[in-house]
Amino acid sequence: MRFYFGDRAGIPNSGRPEIIAGMRELRVLVALAAFAASAAAVAQLKTLKPGWNLFSPQQDIQLGQEAKAEVDKTKPIVHDSRIDGYIAGLGKHLAASPRAGSFPFTFQVINDKSVNAFALPGGPVFINTATIVAAQNEAQLAGVIAHEMSHVALRHGTHEASKGRAVELIAGLAGATTGQSMLGSLARVGINLGANSVLLHYSRDAESQADYNGAEILADSGYDPVEMARFFQLLQTKSSEGRIAQFLSDHPTPGNRVKAVEEEVSYMPKRTYKTDSPEFHRIQALVKALPAPPAPAPAPAAKPGE
Ligand SMILES: [Zn+2]
Repeated sequence: MRFYFGDRAGIPNSGRPEIIAGMRELRVLVALAAFAASAAAVAQLKTLKPGWNLFSPQQDIQLGQEAKAEVDKTKPIVHDSRIDGYIAGLGKHLAASPRAGSFPFTFQVINDKSVNAFALPGGPVFINTATIVAAQNEAQLAGVIAHEMSHVALRHGTHEASKGRAVELIAGLAGATTGQSMLGSLARVGINLGANSVLLHYSRDAESQADYNGAEILADSGYDPVEMARFFQLLQTKSSEGRIAQFLSDHPTPGNRVKAVEEEVSYMPKRTYKTDSPEFHRIQALVKALPAPPAPAPAPAAKPGE
């Protein structure tokens, strides 16, 4: 904010101590008002909690590990120490936010031309190479990861599964004894919770929550939270492209994401955010130079009872 007492009135500032004193007073008042406004606004930020769930947090972890083993076997996971190291570092930095919860997160990149990212219950996060290429800056990539971590922290996957077939689920979970496959026990009661199941299809409500919580993780980590919403909005405008369809089907848009996050940010204390880094662009170039992903293998026929 600028004041024009001196120039506008044609009076040099240095010669009028009462005006300088007045300006000081005004500055103090403006600062106090801003502080009061930000203190009131901070009080309005929500702390989201996981919803109703038939699984225990420990069962989230077990289920996620079993589904992750499926992904590791069937998807072309990138093994490049520079790319893996960068994603793991970025993920670890975001996981330090208290909003990320305490699940044991892991971060892996899948060589895949479709823009997508997903997270399994209890911590495994996967990011497709096309998502890293599509992101315009580091904050947008961090935003996708923070959004996925929020689905984990808020336990959306097992919450969705719990809402489906509660009676069978209770029987299946009761039958899952220590040391046995949880996916197997659930399959015996007719429930498939593998990596391509309901675990990855979220409601619009869950999407809003993941955006909200993700924005807080980003802000805690020093990234501009609006970049996350901008990236999702960008994907929305390109939704006719087939390579984006899966992401939007798994993460249905809950309305104007940019506006929602901007409103949330207005409740946060003012800070200077980071948007980009040279490291991100180096990694993006490495990802672009990766060999083309192998053609997807035909899906194996489902074998009941396994
Ligand atoms: Zn989502």
